[in-house]
Amino acid sequence: MTTHNPEHTPGKYSGIRVRLIQLVIVSWLPLALIFAWTSLENRRIATSHQLEQLEHSASAASHNLSALINNAMQLTSALGHNPGLLDAQLCPDITAPLLSQYSGYANLFALSPGGELICSAIPADSGQSFQDRDYLRRALGSHRPVLGEVTQGRLTGQLVLPVAMALRDRQGQANGAVVAGVDITSYLESLVELHRPNTTLTIWDEHGTIIARMPDQLGLVGQDGSDSELFQTIRYASNKEPFFNREGLDGVARVYSSAVWQEDGRRLWITVGVARGTLLGETQTTFYYSLLLLLLASLLTLSMAWWLGERWVHRPVVKLYRSARRLAAGERGLRFRLQSGANEIQNLGDALDDLSLTLERHEAEAEQAHHDLSQAKDRLEERVHARTTELQDASDNAQQQTAILARRNHEISVIREMTDLLQSCATLEEAQPIVIGTLQTLFDGSRGALYMLRESGNMLERSSVWGGVPEDLAEHFNPDACWAMRLGREHLYRYNDALHPACSHLHESVKHSCCVPLLAQGKTIGTLHFILPDDGYYAEQSVQAFIDLATELADSIGLAMANIKLRQALHDLTIRDPLTGLFNRRFVEEVFEREVARNRRHKQPLSVLMMDIDHFKRFNDTFGHEAGDVVLRACGKLLREIFRDSDLPCRLGGEEFLIILPGLPMEQAMERAEDLRQQVAALALHHDGQSLGDLTTSIGVASWPEPVDNHEELIEQADRALYRAKEGGRNRVCAVE
Ligand code: GH3
Ligand code: MG
Ligand code: MG
Repeated sequence: MTTHNPEHTPGKYSGIRVRLIQLVIVSWLPLALIFAWTSLENRRIATSHQLEQLEHSASAASHNLSALINNAMQLTSALGHNPGLLDAQLCPDITAPLLSQYSGYANLFALSPGGELICSAIPADSGQSFQDRDYLRRALGSHRPVLGEVTQGRLTGQLVLPVAMALRDRQGQANGAVVAGVDITSYLESLVELHRPNTTLTIWDEHGTIIARMPDQLGLVGQDGSDSELFQTIRYASNKEPFFNREGLDGVARVYSSAVWQEDGRRLWITVGVARGTLLGETQTTFYYSLLLLLLASLLTLSMAWWLGERWVHRPVVKLYRSARRLAAGERGLRFRLQSGANEIQNLGDALDDLSLTLERHEAEAEQAHHDLSQAKDRLEERVHARTTELQDASDNAQQQTAILARRNHEISVIREMTDLLQSCATLEEAQPIVIGTLQTLFDGSRGALYMLRESGNMLERSSVWGGVPEDLAEHFNPDACWAMRLGREHLYRYNDALHPACSHLHESVKHSCCVPLLAQGKTIGTLHFILPDDGYYAEQSVQAFIDLATELADSIGLAMANIKLRQALHDLTIRDPLTGLFNRRFVEEVFEREVARNRRHKQPLSVLMMDIDHFKRFNDTFGHEAGDVVLRACGKLLREIFRDSDLPCRLGGEEFLIILPGLPMEQAMERAEDLRQQVAALALHHDGQSLGDLTTSIGVASWPEPVDNHEELIEQADRALYRAKEGGRNRVCAVE
């Protein structure tokens, strides 16, 4: 998109107006040249015409003068034979009518040979003499009319040209002369066309004397102009050129034309001069006016071209241009329709209107489309948002499911691991830490205890806890105190939950709890007691998952523990003596070495008591074999009761017993042996209603580490000690020496 550049505004001197002016000049120039040429030609023709007029005037003046002179000559020739003119009485009757009949004469009069005035056509005093007139003398000597000099008429006072003719009688004797005075003044006045300013008519005689001039303000008539350049030109060059520019005798430059009259060797030159300005004035004025008109017309044309270019082209174009710029700048609602201007520009305005309307319509459509698009976009975004939310929810669900599955996998993995471990356990004691560890792993945040049902089935004992100090966990309780034990399934208790009562074994501070029975082969062997946190750790939606997991775990634990108990029972069958319930020799062989090594590792003492019933053979022999068994069972029971759980009483065979006392040194072992001897001696045994008599035992004591350093040697030491006791008289306790 181009940006508006102010330099692109239509230029002041390079715009359409200037181009239009240039066009007008180019178009106008040939016309102006033709007009100028025509004006020049007209001037030339007019000038030529004026000069012809001038020539014609000169010629006409000459012709008129010639006619006047010839007429006068003919008149005087005719009168020359009229004797009546000599008669003073008749003469006026002849001359006066003639003067009135013919124009052009100032006077007509007759003279005597001596120059006396005989008569005159105009009244005049008789007796006046014309003797001094040269023409009289010449006329009297001639038979033809003679031409006199132009002079001031003596009778008329006017400027006249006398033409004289001798009056002769029949013998030819000159008796007088008749004179016709050609009225030069009237002649000059008759040349009306020469009555113009700065126009002169001059009559020269052959000597160069000016005989008449019109006008003659300077009194040039009678002066000799023969030396003047003007006369020289008239005389010698006028035949060669019809016109010539010369300075007149009055110093005024004129264009002159000349004509000559000649008769009988006399010549008169008539020159008509017109001041050049006067002659060419109109032509020149017309020419200059034409040029001025041309100039004005040119200026007017240019002005009109400028104005019309401004009105029809430039102003509409600038208006269109500015409107177009505003349109380009983004303004809308513009209308280009022009009220003035050339049709093409108006059409351009209309086209721009159409363009503007189309643009507005397109923009409106684009805006509508944009609006629709925006709405569609909004709807799409809403749908995308909804789909995104759905996908997010689905993703969250998937993540939750994944987390659940992961947790579930973890739980399964942990339970499987626990099951594997429990399967490897020989005793429930071994199993309990595994069970507790599993509970802590799976139920992080909760705490609780594992209660195991006694063999008697009337008491649940707390065997182990997880998740903290078991202040609020009962050490033992009756199975009826637990709803789970009663129902044989899990029991969830939540504070203020009327439907699910609290177990009576619960501590009063516990608000949420869950008990899950440990079942194995249809029998309850214990319970898992959970104390749940108060902070909503197990949200409502996960309670069931918790119960499911706890139930599953309890099932696994119950089954595993039942298996352990079963395996323990089977093991007991192999390591215990069925008659006394004590460990048998095989057990001793199995565990004794391990126990000795363990105590040795922990640098703890270990003692063994080797006990043998004195003269046991007698019981069999005296009271029967079964009485012997009674004695053996009684001894076994006593041994199981008086020794700690960590002590290991065994029946090695027959009536010989070995008691392993881990952690017990020799002195204490001796004391315990003595106590044992006394308690056996205190037994009052009966069989089939009869007393079996006194029962005594001999006990050998040996201790590790001194003086022995291995388990075999320890047994041998104890045997030797027992032998000493037997040797020493029985019913006594002896240590090895
Ligand atoms: P001493 O004081 O020297 O130990 O003499 P004693 O009789 O106790 O020792 P002896 O080895 O001579 O006798 C052991 C008898 O114990 C022999 C055997 O018949 C009897 N006996 C071994 N096993 C059993 C048993 O399981 N039940 C019964 N009733 N008698 C048994
Ligand atoms: Mg014996
Ligand atoms: Mg014996």
